[in-house]
Amino acid sequence: MPVPEDQLPVLLPAVEDFRPTGTGLSPLAAVASFVETRCPTCGEPAQRETDVSDTFLDSAWYFLRYPSSQDADRPWDPERTSAWLPVDLYAGGREHVMRHHLYARFLTRALHDLGLVPFAEPFPRLRLHGLLIQEGAKMSKSRGNVVNPDDYIERVGADNLRMYLLFCGAWEEGGDFSDKGLMGIVRFGRRLSSLIVRDVEPGNGGVDLSPLDRVVARVEHDIERFKFNTAISGLMEATNWAAGSWASMSADERSRVSATLILLLAPFAPHLAEELWERSVQLTALTTRAPG
Ligand SMILES: [Zn+2]
Repeated sequence: MPVPEDQLPVLLPAVEDFRPTGTGLSPLAAVASFVETRCPTCGEPAQRETDVSDTFLDSAWYFLRYPSSQDADRPWDPERTSAWLPVDLYAGGREHVMRHHLYARFLTRALHDLGLVPFAEPFPRLRLHGLLIQEGAKMSKSRGNVVNPDDYIERVGADNLRMYLLFCGAWEEGGDFSDKGLMGIVRFGRRLSSLIVRDVEPGNGGVDLSPLDRVVARVEHDIERFKFNTAISGLMEATNWAAGSWASMSADERSRVSATLILLLAPFAPHLAEELWERSVQLTALTTRAPG
């Protein structure tokens, strides 16, 4: 028997003890003031339903709410929903597949059948990330080898940690987190920075810049395929090439190389890239035609 609309919402009581009772009933079932009510039709004593929807129902449609979160009088604005959804890409963990995705896709299909959303599939493109291990061992609280990102951000900065997480393994396979590997990334950032901001006399020019075009193609290709680790390898190789040819490069060639490497670095290390962009005084001419 539904509660009449003019009596909505039915507010949940404040419950102090949430522990399972062993009866199989929800903690709500023990709150007599909530459970005991009157039938809205005949006025006789009645009991409220206490098996209320669980959190999986809410997480099954959050993406429909996000574009319309300011809307107070309806769950979503159909125009916004069709403008923004479905998402282009869903990136998450494997543990989502048999729980969150199952419910979210089921609910979306039901809403689609009811004519309430214009698409049946909420996550047309899905990428599942792998798991990290540390120094060859699975991370676990009992082993005490869980990596706390805050400690590393404190030591090496968010850019270096992010770049290392993307570098230390294939996205879909995971990787082995090691301090030694992390320091390799830190050295790469320093090498690129010192090359770009170093103030040395330009060379005569005429350097073959085709490796630059190749790294642009490679980073774009790899990012689109979630191959962040090989994109960063490509940047490292291009940095080595640039360092080797730097002395011969003219000022214009250096500007083009610096601007390109900084733009390619930005998705992985945005703070460092921004700083290098600001400090590369020779980039003036290029910044006007660089994207973004
Ligand atoms: Zn009744």
